[in-house]
Amino acid sequence: MSKVRIYTIAKELGIDNAEMLSILDDLGVSYKSVSSTIEEDTVELIKGIIAEGGSRAAQSGAGASTEAEAAQTSQTQTPQPQTQVQPEQVAQAPATAAPAADSGMTAEELAELAALEAEEAAEQAATAARAELPHRAPVVTIMGHVDHGKTSLLDYIRSSKVAAKEAGGITQHVGAFEAQTSRGKVVFIDTPGHEAFTTIRARGANVADIAIIVIAADDSLMPQTREAIAHAQAAGVPMLVAINKVDLPQADPERVKADLTTINLVPEDYGGDVITVPVSARTGEGVEDLLEYISLTAELEDLRADPKGKFGGVIIESRVDKQAGVLATVMVQEGTLKVGDFLVVGENYGKVKAMTDSAGKRIKDAGPSTPVQILGFSEAPSSGELVASASNEHEARELVAQRQEQRRDEEEARKKPRLSLDDILGP
Ligand code: GDP
Ligand code: MG
Repeated sequence: MSKVRIYTIAKELGIDNAEMLSILDDLGVSYKSVSSTIEEDTVELIKGIIAEGGSRAAQSGAGASTEAEAAQTSQTQTPQPQTQVQPEQVAQAPATAAPAADSGMTAEELAELAALEAEEAAEQAATAARAELPHRAPVVTIMGHVDHGKTSLLDYIRSSKVAAKEAGGITQHVGAFEAQTSRGKVVFIDTPGHEAFTTIRARGANVADIAIIVIAADDSLMPQTREAIAHAQAAGVPMLVAINKVDLPQADPERVKADLTTINLVPEDYGGDVITVPVSARTGEGVEDLLEYISLTAELEDLRADPKGKFGGVIIESRVDKQAGVLATVMVQEGTLKVGDFLVVGENYGKVKAMTDSAGKRIKDAGPSTPVQILGFSEAPSSGELVASASNEHEARELVAQRQEQRRDEEEARKKPRLSLDDILGP
């Protein structure tokens, strides 16, 4: 429900703040100050009262009590009350109601009002600034029960949508790839989606923007399907259901849809809002539609990031190569990662010595929603760890030292003081 500030409404209606508060008092609407917010419904009531001739109508008008009741009702029905009266505010109430200055506001309130207006302006500026940021590609994870076709689907998309590797490019598993679709780039994470959610989310980062739940049309809902759905729901990530293996004669996509309704996921053709897309990882049927839905979902999510902002990323996976050393796949989430940058992961740091994109091509920099494999860590970071950057080696060391200190402090705080035998037995 939409809320509005009391002073904004007073200004709009051309009445004193004091008069406005007196109308609210008459209506029995509680508020903290003129900067409190009230419900749109209440505003309608106030408009009615003013049209009837000011606050007196509320005090003595025939319809006043019902209006007051209506206002009370709308307040009590509100799940989170917007205006909570606190003791110190109650004490101030008489001053608030007295129309002392022209504005009918105390000096304190005027200051509060100015601060609020500044805050609102800043909020608006931030929203406007965000709207100017470029869109970024969606990061998609595929989850579902074993053997329902996650790997096959990814392989199909990879082989049909990923530009051929550069000649001489290293072919290796990097845990993510970028697919070119008619509606732009889509990034797929091909580590087990389950891992992307458990490990990565446990550290507070959401790496995926959209989850594809793969359900085999000949098998329907299975334990890991439910688990995958629960993960996506817990993360608040939008889901698309890919009903796979529709090429099989025994495929029964309708049964999958009916089964989904039993767990409160109602498909669109059952009147709900869950998008289900019949696909075959074997024939490629429906894969274009799936990519289309991914792009549409991403558009609705309005995913944006600042390539010029401070770098932030997350480790997708890492491994140790006998010759090259530690190879870590990093998903760039904010800012731009460049060769030569210093990175801090947990209590380790490293310098980006070389960087390749997910197709194995050497690159110098990578913006938001780009999975890159980097060489430069001395120890393999764990998947899900957050990556920060430092402007130089000194800063990187400092950051690591700070983190170590913080961890030691926390460990210290957790240690309970132990009683010695002497303490117990006394001298
Ligand atoms: P995952 O465990 O979810 O990664 O499943 P896989 O991709 O390994 O697939 C399991 C089995 O199902 C393999 O034998 C695949 O060939 C087969 N499979 C996957 N997708 C399809 C499909 O669309 N149609 C048919 N007929 N078989 C499929
Ligand atoms: Mg697999």
